[in-house]
Amino acid sequence: MIDPTTEEIIARVPDTDPAAVDTAVLRAGAAGRRWAALAPADRARALRRFADVVDRHLDELAALETAEAGHPAATARGEAEQVRDLLEYAAGGVERLTGRQIPVAGGTAVTFAEPLGVVAVIAPWNFPMPIAAWGAAPALAAGNAVLLKPAEQTPLTALRLAELALEAGLPEGLFRTLPGAGTVTGEALVDHPGVAKVVFTGSTAVGRRIMARCAGTVKRLTLELGGKSPMVVFADADLERAAASAPSAFLDNTGQDCCARSRILVQEGVRDRFLELLEPAVRAVRVGDPRDPDTDMGPLISAAHRERVSALVPTDTPALVRGEVPEGPGFWYPATVLDDARAPERARTEEIFGPVTVVGTFADEDEAVRLANDTPYGLSGSIWTRDTGRALRVSGGIRAGNLSVNSNSSVRPTTPFGGFKQSGLGRELGPDALIAFTETKTVFIDTGR
Ligand code: NAD
Repeated sequence: MIDPTTEEIIARVPDTDPAAVDTAVLRAGAAGRRWAALAPADRARALRRFADVVDRHLDELAALETAEAGHPAATARGEAEQVRDLLEYAAGGVERLTGRQIPVAGGTAVTFAEPLGVVAVIAPWNFPMPIAAWGAAPALAAGNAVLLKPAEQTPLTALRLAELALEAGLPEGLFRTLPGAGTVTGEALVDHPGVAKVVFTGSTAVGRRIMARCAGTVKRLTLELGGKSPMVVFADADLERAAASAPSAFLDNTGQDCCARSRILVQEGVRDRFLELLEPAVRAVRVGDPRDPDTDMGPLISAAHRERVSALVPTDTPALVRGEVPEGPGFWYPATVLDDARAPERARTEEIFGPVTVVGTFADEDEAVRLANDTPYGLSGSIWTRDTGRALRVSGGIRAGNLSVNSNSSVRPTTPFGGFKQSGLGRELGPDALIAFTETKTVFIDTGR
């Protein structure tokens, strides 16, 4: 593992080979059956204990996230807190997971929400810790076992979370982390007949391959994939607030965020004013060592990823704003605002996954919606306007799973999250998450009349 800030090797983690995956699946199956048989209140208590143990290790988990992913200290701390909150939320759902009773001719039918069995959570490197918990917490709450395959670049928080689960008293084998390459450990999990569901978060290209492989065993599947999300700013918006919020919308996590607003669409007539406000806000973002509590933006995850971002947006591309980066080691890339008219085609249309946004304009509501939808993705977006009717009309028109009005936030642990179109399949978080880890069984009882 390489620290993206110092470029130093910080750990070596062995891969999990297919034979070890096989053993882990068998053990997880057995542990899951015992876990599912526990009284719901006992499962909830165990998850609350897990949340408490995470709470006692917030600083340690945050430091690991900063070391392996380069996340600024305060952000990393927030991510560790999100893991705790997700476990608490999931624990609260255990006893609310119920079936239904449906009257039918000749008797009655009862439905049961049964656990699926073994769930594989395949996580990306951009938010390693929270995304692991997005899958693991509700899956465990619904009575499943979880095998977590972290990204090659970021296994450390995932390994620590599995240790903390044991410390909290979760049964051996129920929640394990299996580090390794996607094409080896990941595919062994996806192909394994003992795995009932795959929750994959990552690129759309890999998501497609996993979806095709899941067909072999008709696996249940949740996909959280890429995005090309727009921030739509109408002339009647509070431009000061919109411009103040915009940097975090495409620079948080150095733009390595599936919900990053890599497109800003501004209504004709206010573009110049908006850019005048945006430039100092972008320049105010403090870039540097993520261990420094004053840092807002750290490096990219790896040299390979910096090459990818640089191929989409060469650093000599004419820019409306281009920030500074530190000298010395670290996979730095400057905060960059491009003009839609002069941006490279790939930067305008592809997910960049770096600290870059492209500013374009629109004439009216219809054009705003058309441009927002002019992408195969449909993950997030924001609408800035003082007109509530317009906010509702435009949010009705945009084909994306997570929209915000006069805000650029996308994720809350208590609300459903997921993509339209090629941004994904299914929903995580909120009340939808728990049910996604169950199978509905219907039992008909003949009452004799
Ligand atoms: P990636 O697709 O390269 O890898 C993601 C995970 O899949 C890693 O653990 C990797 O080892 C594994 N993997 C790779 N090939 C595999 C295979 N053939 N079979 C099984 N597993 C395999 O993605 P990444 O570069 O780690 O993450 C960045 C991408 O994730 C971006 O596109 C981003 O938009 C997306 N993302 C989406 C969301 C969301 O919620 N929609 C959230 C975060 C990231």
